[in-house]
Amino acid sequence: MYPVVGPGRLISFMQSRGLSPRRSLGQNFLVDANIARKIAEEARLRPEDVVVEIGPGLGALTLQLAGRAKMVVALEIDRGLLRALEEILGDRPEVRLVEGDALKADFDGLVEEALGLQDGGRLPDYKVVANLPYYITSPLLVRLLEGGFHIREMLLMLQAEVARRLVAPPGGKEYGALTLLVQYYARAAIVMHVPRTVFYPRPEVDSVVVRLEVHRRPPVEVGDRDFFFRVIRAAFGQRRKTLANALRSLVGTRGPVEEALAAAGIDPSRRGETLSLEEFAGLSRCLQACMGRR
Ligand code: SAM
Repeated sequence: MYPVVGPGRLISFMQSRGLSPRRSLGQNFLVDANIARKIAEEARLRPEDVVVEIGPGLGALTLQLAGRAKMVVALEIDRGLLRALEEILGDRPEVRLVEGDALKADFDGLVEEALGLQDGGRLPDYKVVANLPYYITSPLLVRLLEGGFHIREMLLMLQAEVARRLVAPPGGKEYGALTLLVQYYARAAIVMHVPRTVFYPRPEVDSVVVRLEVHRRPPVEVGDRDFFFRVIRAAFGQRRKTLANALRSLVGTRGPVEEALAAAGIDPSRRGETLSLEEFAGLSRCLQACMGRR
């Protein structure tokens, strides 16, 4: 087992294996074992828990998670890192190292395989923990939330600017389609701020750890979910326009938009960024009903 702590040891370990951090894969490694431990503590793991870690890198977090859960499935895209990780973690039977792309992975399938459930055993809910590669934060969030996986909770380190968007209240610049997507699927909270100094190489942005507790049932009734998210995208696609004008581009004509706004009790001169999740849900339902009547 190789505890990768401190940039000096990390650099010499990587060099001795012919490796160097790949910026294109968002490789900023945690080199502070205290921070890794704090993140693992915030994962609130029980001994029976299964965790999927995205991008284990050189195992700074993986090592901390391994002692706290029944199983850690660690999904890494970089084959060179995986080989090094096998050296570091090879003697931990509760860790499964898997090569793959998180943007394409079937997370339930990975857990099923790790637990040997191919013959119809019940798949448990599991947690996702990651120091994310920041170049894929948004598409990965969408996939993790919309994928219908058995994920109960996520603890994700991501860029502070994105984290602020996830927890933004209505009305401000940071509130948008991503905020509403996250709110629809999960309860989001910022757990800790992480300084740039604990990474090697240092990232160009500040980092934050966010907890997403996935809702068992969505908090609002939206009717057709795809349409609901199209309404949201239309409302934010033209942020400077009033809702009535922004939605006209989705529906085509003015009539159903005005009717739906009136039925939902929403002033047509408001802008999309002022509407709460509940208001978007009501508006989307009314719009579906108005369009259905025409
Ligand atoms: N967990 C390690 C740590 O905290 O030190 C490394 C975190 S680093 C920010 C992101 C990791 O994600 C890297 O190991 C990188 O190779 C990996 N990665 C990048 N793109 C990926 C993808 N599409 N699927 C899975 N892993 C990916």
